[in-house]
Amino acid sequence: MSKKWVYLFKEGNADMKALLGGKGANLAEMTNIGLPVPQGFTVTTEACSEYHNQSKKLSDDIVSQINNSLKVLEDQCQKKFGDKKNPLLVSVRSGAKISMPGMMDTILNLGLNDETVIGIANETQNERFAYDSYRRFIQMFGDVVQEISKEKFDRVLEATKEKNNYKDDTDLTADDLKEIVFAYKDIIKQETGKEFPLDPMDQLSLAIEAVFRSWNNNRAITYRNKNDIPHDIGTAVNVQSMVYGNMGDDSGTGVAFTRNPATGQKKLFGEFLINAQGEDVVAGIRTPKNIDELNDIMPEVFHQFKDTAELLEKHYKDMQDIEFTIEKRKLYMLQTRTGKRTAAAALRAAVEMEEEGLITKKEALARLDPLSLDQLLHPVFEEKALGQAKKLAEGLPASPGAATGKIYFTAEAVCAASIKGEETLLVRKETSPEDIEGMYATNGILTARGGMTSHAAVVARGMGKCCVAGCENIKVNETEKQFSVNGETFNEGDYISLDGSTGKVYQGSIKTVNPELSGHFGTIMDWADTYRTMKIRTNADTPNDALVAVGFGAEGIGLCRTEHMFFDEKRLPSVRRMILSETKEQRKKALAEILPMQKDDFKGIYLAMEGRPVTVRLLDPPLHEFLPVEEKDIKSLAKDMNVSYEDMVVVINDLKEFNPMLGHRGCRLAITYPEIAEMQTRAIMEAAIEAKEEKGYNIIPEIMIPLVGINEELTYLDKVVRDTAECVKNEKQSNIDYLVGTMMEIPRATLIADEIAETAEFFSFGTNDLTQMTFGFSRDDAGKFITDYKEKGVLTSDPFQTIDVKGVGKLVETGVKLGRKTKPKLKIGVCGEHGGDPKSIYFFYNAGLDYVSCSPFRVPIARLAAAQAAIMDTHK
Ligand code: ADP
Ligand code: MG
Ligand code: MG
Repeated sequence: MSKKWVYLFKEGNADMKALLGGKGANLAEMTNIGLPVPQGFTVTTEACSEYHNQSKKLSDDIVSQINNSLKVLEDQCQKKFGDKKNPLLVSVRSGAKISMPGMMDTILNLGLNDETVIGIANETQNERFAYDSYRRFIQMFGDVVQEISKEKFDRVLEATKEKNNYKDDTDLTADDLKEIVFAYKDIIKQETGKEFPLDPMDQLSLAIEAVFRSWNNNRAITYRNKNDIPHDIGTAVNVQSMVYGNMGDDSGTGVAFTRNPATGQKKLFGEFLINAQGEDVVAGIRTPKNIDELNDIMPEVFHQFKDTAELLEKHYKDMQDIEFTIEKRKLYMLQTRTGKRTAAAALRAAVEMEEEGLITKKEALARLDPLSLDQLLHPVFEEKALGQAKKLAEGLPASPGAATGKIYFTAEAVCAASIKGEETLLVRKETSPEDIEGMYATNGILTARGGMTSHAAVVARGMGKCCVAGCENIKVNETEKQFSVNGETFNEGDYISLDGSTGKVYQGSIKTVNPELSGHFGTIMDWADTYRTMKIRTNADTPNDALVAVGFGAEGIGLCRTEHMFFDEKRLPSVRRMILSETKEQRKKALAEILPMQKDDFKGIYLAMEGRPVTVRLLDPPLHEFLPVEEKDIKSLAKDMNVSYEDMVVVINDLKEFNPMLGHRGCRLAITYPEIAEMQTRAIMEAAIEAKEEKGYNIIPEIMIPLVGINEELTYLDKVVRDTAECVKNEKQSNIDYLVGTMMEIPRATLIADEIAETAEFFSFGTNDLTQMTFGFSRDDAGKFITDYKEKGVLTSDPFQTIDVKGVGKLVETGVKLGRKTKPKLKIGVCGEHGGDPKSIYFFYNAGLDYVSCSPFRVPIARLAAAQAAIMDTHK
């Protein structure tokens, strides 16, 4: 038997998303639970791949299965495709496994031509409706299939409206529409050199092929790249009998969410338009009405819809995003899918659904996207500054957050400015899929038109980007690059601020502050902590960073870098003298000047951490980084050190390295100059002893030796550190404990980890350097080609962002296994960028790490990801 390429809606279900696409699978599911779904069938994603493999041709087998299903559809609807009296019209809708809003296009009213349009007019006794449907069809077909810009058609429509002084397109009469149809067909002929295809069968196969082709249009590719969606899964095509929201005042179309997608509040949230079809609501053609008003206009339909929405949410156990159409007071369901929501809404909905008994705590945690929490960890406007700010206008609070920046009026301008490091805001009449790149690049989006479900609003919420939509008081002039409001004009480059949570627009830039983890966020974090087994530490170099991290739930510091302390302006002269010393005595003298400052640094951090564990890494970067480059700075240093300028230049040049990353850095420095390690150890120990004595914190300093690749590097320095530590303990008569361990960041170290663990009391994987050295990719230069690698499929993700499980991961696993062979309880963590990346965290959990350490703002993300790792663990 040949392969099944086409499924009737009643043959599918919600679990078949890979084959039928999300839209098709859910249409099938809704059909099977008895909801009013217009009948139809789905051509599978496999047919899409087949089409591309067969050099963009539909095979005979696929075509014949489509024809057979069309016959079934004709029987079900009691209409005939292309029939002059009783014609069947269909929509052709794309739908991939993962929803890609606005990425691919839909064609409505397919099957109309000069004859069937008359049939429809007669049958419905509504000529206006028939020609309204026809003009829509020609435009969508021209746009999607023949790639003729929508604007060409819009211009004709606008001109007719202007000529007749109409406000809305509902004012167009049947005769106007007939003329428009005529003009549209002309556009098609001019643009393609061919007549508009009148044979419905041709229309259908051209449309299906166009959907398959659109899988590879630039917008779709960009969206997939940004969202890590594979390029080979293909899209399905749904062919569905039409129902009509444009039949008059007792018809309409709308979209609604079962909960508020911006806040998570449990209340039907949506919009509709009377006498409208398809994308009218989303495209911002007329300002839609709030869904609650449907209750006034058609109460029975409203209640039926409300009940259906509730049923769907219970059925799917998640917030739904629903598209519907009303034809002569009869409700039809056209789509349902999991609703995209802001992070705040996701948290609230998850907590409330658990309270409602709809889902368990584990389910609530598992469905949250840890990275999306980032949206909530970013600054909000400072209340005082906000109070003083001048409000310019108020639009819809389409996507929460606070954003400040210079205004730009095109996606290109925004991209160009943000490459230069400018803070930008994108201001447009309304956005369209062509603006995606700019929407990614900007801090926030302001549109003059469109509702809460407009393109700008939906996409911004998905991206977690601040957006104020439908701000009708501002008059945007995209060509002049300006907008005006209340008689004031704002030009490209002017600063304004947007509050996406209130919809308010302010003049100038407004100061922002850090948010707090309270309410639903706090609840989710508490739940996460009960399931998580891995500890979460932070990378912090200052007491302030440490405090922020503790506020976000950090349980210790996994990496305190000491080089930042060396860069401090007041210390730099001593640091430079230390580096350029010719004798050990000179060096010791310079180090003695640095010692009290280092001690204060560490003490500040110990106090901020209130006894939580702190791992301090000894000096790591190549020394030349601390030396002056400017002539005047070199001169002043020369004077300071009592040498000639020329001699100073020679010394500095001597310290330059061809490849500093692989040069004299890390433990190699301390082997050459043990006095540096001695000074740092002394500072760490004295600080801990003082903090303990003053506050009673039981501090056990963890001293970490970086860049070890040879066991003897560690044994040599371990002795230096221990001798110093013991010496300090004696001097201060303290019995404080301390640990000496190492970074695992040189591939060789992971391979001899059993030997290293004989000395080391802990390991911390430095996955940044480990990745750099395993791939042989310079961290500072790889950005340039990793993008190419991703585009050409050489790499699927940036190994500096998400751990490369196959290679670097294997080294981590080897290091853990060998290390614990020697010391079964060896404490092991990770302190690279990967410590804050959810996918990497899942890996570290399975590799058996005790903790991950990440930047302060990543701590809540790591807490949730660590909980998810434990929840997903089936071996526990
Ligand atoms: P998108 O994926 O961009 O949302 P859809 O395929 O869902 O595109 O189509 C967009 C809109 O077109 C739907 O929300 C609905 O209003 C309308 N539509 C699609 N199919 C039909 C149909 N068979 N009858 C009436 N309207 C339809
Ligand atoms: Mg669309
Ligand atoms: Mg849709």
